[in-house]
Amino acid sequence: MSQTDKSIFEEFESEVRSYCRNFPSIFTKAKGYKMWDEAGQEYIDFFSGAGALNYGHNDPVMKSKLVEYISNDGITHSLDMATSAKAEFISKFNDVILKPRKLDYKIMFPGPTGTNTVESALKLARKVTGRTDVISFTNGFHGMTIGSLSVTGNAAKRKGAGIPLHHSVTMPYDNFVDNNSSLDYLESFLEGGGSGVDIPAAMILETVQGEGGINAASFDWLKKIEQICKRWGILLIIDDVQAGVGRTGTFFSFEPAGITPDIVCMSKSLSGFGLPFAITLFHPELDIWSPGEHNGTFRGNNHAFVTATAALSYWEDKEFEKSIQNKSKMIHDFLVKLNQDTPELNGEVCGRGFMTGIVSEVDGLASKITAEAFERGLIMETSGPNDEVFKLFPPITIDEDGLKKGFNIIEESVKSILK
Ligand code: PMP
Repeated sequence: MSQTDKSIFEEFESEVRSYCRNFPSIFTKAKGYKMWDEAGQEYIDFFSGAGALNYGHNDPVMKSKLVEYISNDGITHSLDMATSAKAEFISKFNDVILKPRKLDYKIMFPGPTGTNTVESALKLARKVTGRTDVISFTNGFHGMTIGSLSVTGNAAKRKGAGIPLHHSVTMPYDNFVDNNSSLDYLESFLEGGGSGVDIPAAMILETVQGEGGINAASFDWLKKIEQICKRWGILLIIDDVQAGVGRTGTFFSFEPAGITPDIVCMSKSLSGFGLPFAITLFHPELDIWSPGEHNGTFRGNNHAFVTATAALSYWEDKEFEKSIQNKSKMIHDFLVKLNQDTPELNGEVCGRGFMTGIVSEVDGLASKITAEAFERGLIMETSGPNDEVFKLFPPITIDEDGLKKGFNIIEESVKSILK
């Protein structure tokens, strides 16, 4: 294969590309937790498509199911027609995910991406409650379209709209202020006290903030959030677009907190194969839209139904969850030791499960470490409003050997930067 002329990107791609993934290679191939570039250089993937590839690249079972489906001329696009691929997904999602967790949700296909599920959740919450405002949280990330951006707590991203964004009240996330005082503050607002704040339609949050700095909310805080929502008739929307599908150790990130959101947003790794796919889960009593009140050409991708159904097989095996949790402990222990052994990082271990990192107080250090790691064959990203976190995001299917190889590269990179 001839080498791609990199200038093609400069010549034809506009600045809008702006996803700022500064990996100076052209990638051609990927399998499991490995990727290769045009020059044949191998990389370990600790990025997983920002959480869209939790099962790794080109999972063999999903691949063969998809190839078989295409070879048999399976339906590719169906709009809102019923298809066998869609039926199989709904049925398996119910049997393998919802029923064993005693969760009573209806499933909606809101459009292909994360921002689509968030938009549908915000829109449904308004329709159900007849209210407009939504409470969201500092450093939360929910998407780039007007509605989802209006609940995204990142000033730089909000600037993209060029106009003030309405109907959102941003609150401090978990322990940004001491203990739970942010919630006391919120309740005092809701109680009136001359604040003039209208009761909002919904609260939207991630249980672990993926883009905003790998901030993990405590389970206690999440429970209190749920109680406040119940008390005031506010719908609780958990955005599990990034933290869901096993990333934190359980299928839904909110499971260990013992809360049951009214609406759940999922996308990214749901198709299992990196295909655009999203669902919105909501309690049956919220099923009030009439046909046509939320439609769209690419709602529910049949190829994604096929791979997503195959991906759910992982969850039929109880050992799968355990294996993610065991490997999560390895990641956590590695980070704690690295942080202890390297006071120069001025760091703190953050996150939970396979959604972790070290937040460093040293300006620019996390970016230097990820760039050095890339040179040494490890793909890793930064997170946080000032790129202050180096983020470990390997596929949850990675084996211990793959993890150790990645850890070694991180250790070497940190040493070489700080020497
Ligand atoms: N919610 C969260 C928590 C996300 O991390 C993202 C994407 N990073 C989105 C929503 C938006 O998803 P998409 O980019 O697919 O629109």
